[in-house]
Amino acid sequence: MDKKYKGINTICTHAGELEDTKFKGAVSPLYMATSYAFEEVEVKRYPRYFNTPNQVALAKKMAALEHGEAALIFGSGMAAVSTALLSHVQSGDHVVFQNTLYGGTSNLITEEFDKFKIEYSFTKDASPAAFEAEIRENTKLVYIETPSNPLLTITDVSAVAQLAKKKGLVSMIDNTFASPVNQNPIDLGIDIVIHSATKYMGGHSDILAGVVISSEDKINTVFQMAKNLGGNLSDYTVWLLERSLKTMGLRVKAQNENAQVLAEYLYANNKVAKVYYPGLTSHPEHELAKAQMKGFGGMLSFELIEGLNADEFQKKLQLIKSSMSLAGVESTILSPSKTSHGLLTPEERAKQGIKDGLLRFSVGIEEPEDLIADIEQALKAISEN
Ligand SMILES: *Cc1c(COP(=O)(O)O)cnc(C)c1O
Repeated sequence: MDKKYKGINTICTHAGELEDTKFKGAVSPLYMATSYAFEEVEVKRYPRYFNTPNQVALAKKMAALEHGEAALIFGSGMAAVSTALLSHVQSGDHVVFQNTLYGGTSNLITEEFDKFKIEYSFTKDASPAAFEAEIRENTKLVYIETPSNPLLTITDVSAVAQLAKKKGLVSMIDNTFASPVNQNPIDLGIDIVIHSATKYMGGHSDILAGVVISSEDKINTVFQMAKNLGGNLSDYTVWLLERSLKTMGLRVKAQNENAQVLAEYLYANNKVAKVYYPGLTSHPEHELAKAQMKGFGGMLSFELIEGLNADEFQKKLQLIKSSMSLAGVESTILSPSKTSHGLLTPEERAKQGIKDGLLRFSVGIEEPEDLIADIEQALKAISEN
């Protein structure tokens, strides 16, 4: 990091920015070149080497956001997850994964790891004891995701980080759901932080990207494989992502506030059976969330009472769109059993506590009154049938 900025919004707006020395423009200039003259002979500047001016500038902002030393920007969240994982383990090694993971990450493990003879196990639950129970002689890495998708369970980040340190393992977290605004795992002792930048970092449902943030040393290990796998992000999108990040602090704060209002509204609604949101005192890990997070995030899930059909409810919503993905400025809703977790067997879903009627709600920046009015009218419409 060039300069040490303290406040999140200063980091979002300014950290890493490129100066336009020629025209004094207000924003970082965009350099689209794929070929650079050998000015400094040692440095071969090339987009797949993650070292173009815009890639380097954005990586500085990312490192500053997560209080790390260095970062690499990838073409998708999964490119970041797969490269970070595969660069830190090899055949014969074992990895402990949290039981509840993003669907794409689960698929990467169950569909690809056998081919590389990388062993793995999933924890029974997200408690530190459950992680310890899975550690074997050849375990090299522990991987967590908190808050989890879709039930917003909270893993004790510093307890797992301490366990990994004690056992000499690398610790990795997918921090996508929290965003760097709400949770900074490196401060809690985690080695490597991953984000799908498609979500809160992009924030407008128009960028696919990922990022890995860590120490110089570990980022260099990731880089050695990343340049061979070729998962970099195009410079134009790097530039767009820098633009998106300038408002991330403001957006996420608004989403935190809205999600709290909506969670409390749903919790008090007699047509709603259950609400999963770490900001509610009824959430089993509310105190833990309060201790390790700066905000409770914009994601929540809920179940309607028996007799009210979740599919019909989704169809009646007008402002809140039924759609895949999450974390945009617009509110969206989906049914995990039919979408994000549709590939799991009904038994696997039941084991994770994902009921067929569960709805996952990504709360946007709209006025909460309008969101509540939309839910009210949809509940009314399906109750009259
Ligand atoms: C979306 C997502 C990913 C994957 O990111 P892509 O950008 O879609 O490749 C990984 N982890 C979590 C928690 C996500 O929500």
